[in-house]
This record gives sequence, C-alpha cells and structure tokens, in this order.
Amino acid sequence: MKRKIALIPGDGIGPEIVKEAKKVLDKVCEVYGHEFVYEELLLGGASIDAHGVPLTQETIEKAKSSDAVLMGSIGGDAKTSSWYQLEPSKRPEAGLLGIRKALNLFANLRPAYLYEELKAACPLKEEVIGDGFDLIIVRELTGGLYFGERRTTEENGIRTAVDTLSYNEEEIRRIAIQAFEIAKKRRKKVTSVDKANVLDSSRLWRSVVEEVAADYPDIILEHMLVDNCAMQLVHNPGQFDVILTENMFGDILSDEASMVTGSIGMLSSASLNETGFGLYEPSHGSAPDIAGKGIANPIATILSAAMLLRFSLDLDKEADAVEKAVAEVLKEGFRTPDIFSDGMKKAGTEEMGTLIAEKI
Ligand code: ATP
Ligand code: MG
Repeated sequence: MKRKIALIPGDGIGPEIVKEAKKVLDKVCEVYGHEFVYEELLLGGASIDAHGVPLTQETIEKAKSSDAVLMGSIGGDAKTSSWYQLEPSKRPEAGLLGIRKALNLFANLRPAYLYEELKAACPLKEEVIGDGFDLIIVRELTGGLYFGERRTTEENGIRTAVDTLSYNEEEIRRIAIQAFEIAKKRRKKVTSVDKANVLDSSRLWRSVVEEVAADYPDIILEHMLVDNCAMQLVHNPGQFDVILTENMFGDILSDEASMVTGSIGMLSSASLNETGFGLYEPSHGSAPDIAGKGIANPIATILSAAMLLRFSLDLDKEADAVEKAVAEVLKEGFRTPDIFSDGMKKAGTEEMGTLIAEKI
C-alpha cells in the first residue's frame, strides 16, 4: 500500500538515527511491496536555525497531512547551545510540546523490554529479572498536573505556589481505551496506576477505568498505587504487561522503567491521538555529546519505526519483522558502543542500520 510518512530528523544525533530507520522502512517496502513517500520537516533547533522559531505552521500542516510522523530527537546542549539563550517558549523543546498539542497526541506509549543478550546491562539482580520483562507504559500526555491552573502568590512575605491536578472523565476514558486496545494485542493485562487512597482525581480515574474495563471482559484489570508501582518495577518487573497511568506518574515511571532495562539507546516511544495517527521517536534525547561521530545507537529509532508500522499503519506482520531483525542482529553479537561488552562485535550507526535492514 501507499503511505505518506513525515520525517523529522531534528537535532544532535537525530539525522543520523532517522537515516537508519528510513533504511529499514525502505527495506520493509521492498520486501512487502509497499510504497512509502517521505517528506522531511523541520522542528526544534533545526527549525530555529532556518526560521527563527522551533515550530512553524508549515511543519504542523505537513505533519497533519501525513499518515504518521517519525522523529529523531530535539534539542542541544543547554550549557553551550545558543538555542538556550532564548526564552523558554522559543527553545527547541517548545517545538515538541507545540506539535504534540497541535496534533492532539494524548497517549504516550513507552515499551520497556529486556533483551536476553543485554541482561548484563540491566542493573537488577539475576533473581529479580527472572524470565525477563516486556511491558509498555501508556501515559496520559495532555492533562493532569502539567496542564492544570498554576499560580504563585506572596502574603506577609511568605510565598505560596499552587499547581492543579485535574482530569475529566472523557480524558480518562480515551486513554483507558487506548490501554485496553493495546492489551488486546499483548498479554491481556492492564495495571492501572493511581494514588486513589489520597487523591480525588485518582478515585475518578479508578472508577472510569473500571467502566471501560467492563467492555473488555478478556482483559485482566488490576489497580496499583503509584508508590507501590515504583517499587514493583525494580522488585518484580515481569508481573507487568500494560501499565496505564496519568501524566506525571507516567513521566516518572517511564524514566524508571527505561533505566531498569539498562539500555537507553534501545527504547522506542509513540504519541497517539484518537484516530491512531502518531508521532514516533526514540525515548532518549539528542545526545549532543556524540552527535556527528557515527556511533549513536539507531535501534530505539528503528523500533519506533516498528511501532509506527504497528499502530498507525496497521502493519503488524511488518512490525514483527523489524523487531525480530533487531533481536537477530543482537544475537549475532553486533553492538554499538553504548551497549558494547567484551567479546562482542563493534558496529557504528550506519553498520547497525544496514545489518538490521538486511535481516528483514
Ligand atoms: P533529554 O533531556 O532530551 O532527555 P538528556 O541529555 O537527558 O536529553 P540523552 O540525550 O538521552 O539525555 O543522553 C543521555 C546519555 O545517553 C548521553 O551520554 C548520550 O550520549 C547517551 N545516549 C542517548 N541516546 C543514545 C543513543 N541512541 N546511542 C548512544 N548513546 C546515547
Ligand atoms: Mg533528560
């Protein structure tokens, strides 16, 4: 089939890793008989350099007219880059927040998967790892504390700051539906994470999630308090399949889950809207310290492209093929420097991309 994919190479290592992901997608087209048409868009620092702003209307419109967006990474070194002399609303990251908002991307998906071959990099003890883990965090991305009303006041010389955590049932329902739909394609378990022993917003969250669960009788739902979940992620990560949670809890838990895998250059992410349209990007940053050296690990971006195939284009078989190709190349011992260990074969960014493409 013919599809239009917007590519946002972005900043730092972004252009290098997106190039490898495109190489893999091209191979998917060749093998499975699809045609993907690409359009390159500017965002973040690259857009500041070209247009003076981190996000233009043109980028928004072209992204909207595509079937999905694949992105590298946004931003630079905050200490040395001139982008960070600008006020916060004009910096690279503002472009990313802006495009998420413009595209109404309310669901953030972050898988955390432990490769057998990379167990040594996992900071957890052997007995905790057990048979490994394979979970996905479904985080609400446009509501909650980060978007609530905020103010700082001062009275009698004492300053007070207030942030508001608010959710309405529609916002909860749509993210819950996403989580259950994803669980349907996986091991059929949803762990909804909240703080219902303290927060009203969490009690509403729990009751709406229960309502949604009624439409999915095959899926097991359990509730977990966020503090317990933070503990369970390092105590017994194998128990989780889909973790459903609100914005701030999801922000914190997904960083925790990514560290638990021990390989930041391996983790993909997706941000989706109601129609299934999505923006796909590695969950790591722009790694300015290694940009241009040809050593960045392209696997997180390649796995993001696999998510794009699965969630926005409904090409499950092709997505499986990409994930399997990554696993095989790791099994053969090829490693970029960030995941290198003794006895393995060193590969650079381009070589890694080529090896994976060849396995499709
Ligand atoms: P952000 O604020 O955007 O998350 P950050 O500075 O916190 O960025 P990263 O840019 O992800 O984090 O970089 C953290 C460290 O991990 C750096 O040392 C970087 O070189 C390394 N790193 C990140 N991504 C990769 C990758 N794909 N391959 C190799 N190393 C990487
Ligand atoms: Mg960071």
